[in-house]
Amino acid sequence: MHAQRPTWCEIDLSAITHNLATLGDMVGPKVDVFVCVKGDASGCGDIEVSRTAERAGAAGVAFGNLDRAMAARRAGVRLPILLYPTCLPDTAPVLEEHNLMPTLSTLEDVAAWSSHAKSLKVFLKLDGGGFRAGALPHQAPGVARAIADSNTLELAGAYGHPMASYGPVDPVYTDAQINSCIDALKRVEAAGIDVPVRMVSSSAIILSHPDADLNAVDPGRLAIGQSFPAAEGRERVWRHALVGLRSQLVMVKPLDDIGDVMPAPFLPRRPGMKIGLVPYGWSDGYPRKIPENATALLRGKRVRLLGPTHSELLRVDLTDVPEARLGDEVVFLGRQGSDEIGLEELAVQWKVGIPDLYGAIGKSVRRRYLG
Ligand SMILES: *Cc1c(COP(=O)(O)O)cnc(C)c1O
Repeated sequence: MHAQRPTWCEIDLSAITHNLATLGDMVGPKVDVFVCVKGDASGCGDIEVSRTAERAGAAGVAFGNLDRAMAARRAGVRLPILLYPTCLPDTAPVLEEHNLMPTLSTLEDVAAWSSHAKSLKVFLKLDGGGFRAGALPHQAPGVARAIADSNTLELAGAYGHPMASYGPVDPVYTDAQINSCIDALKRVEAAGIDVPVRMVSSSAIILSHPDADLNAVDPGRLAIGQSFPAAEGRERVWRHALVGLRSQLVMVKPLDDIGDVMPAPFLPRRPGMKIGLVPYGWSDGYPRKIPENATALLRGKRVRLLGPTHSELLRVDLTDVPEARLGDEVVFLGRQGSDEIGLEELAVQWKVGIPDLYGAIGKSVRRRYLG
């Protein structure tokens, strides 16, 4: 059964195709693109974004959640899949069955994974000074050597993830982390170990550090249109994949004949007042405290949202749209008639940055794919 709740957001896959083509042109044919789809591809849908990446000629995708990566395989995604360090070594047989590549950082990792595996390709993660997962430069050759010497593991590549757009953002610190990852790669190769895929560039680094492309890059947010400051020569047009958030009126009710006897502390009473109900609320991602002057589009007009928000319902003031009817479309994001609410405006209404809008729209809201 298809979902029946009349509330959905719209993801434009042609925007992602455009972004991946732009990225491919920018880094050139000698650099592979691994698309990071962690966090359900920032809410755009990890399986749909993986399929789009596959059609666009990406070299692979990267997941942060083993269960989601398995779901992608069941859905028919055939691209190589890299898993960030989010599962335990005893899952090695499951990874082998689904053709997934885990991330290893330490000698303990290598010993445990190699004892559970029969034949498994793995990635080595490099820690350039963020001090999360990864081998530090002086540890990397030893860990890479242990993988190379294992009878059951094969080194598919190595990657680092310098902080550049989250955590402590500091250009000097970012440069130092990139250099220390590249130094670690050099030490591994100097030890005579082949590293087929080498990458240290997430979205912000691709745009700001063209010299860090190596032979592969691993952007996530750039693929869905979230861009970052670009170095000279890397300015491009990126298109946002999130283009719509829509619902329909599930009730229209006149309040003009209730008189003055009924208390309504939260309702701005107006002559001829009419309200409508929209099946979308704070448990679906709408801000819990309704923003002042928040509006939506209905029959091409602006209607005001009335507080308070409910878990799965919002109220709109229909007084100025007397022709409103049950089932009318309500637009929070997107075009209707000659008016449009864009990402910038919605972000201002919700008092968040545009990137946060992607994560804010709840999983309970159906994704509808365009393009
Ligand atoms: C999240 C992540 C990425 C992608 O980051 P973006 O900023 O979304 O491009 C790349 N590599 C690793 C290891 C990550 O964890």
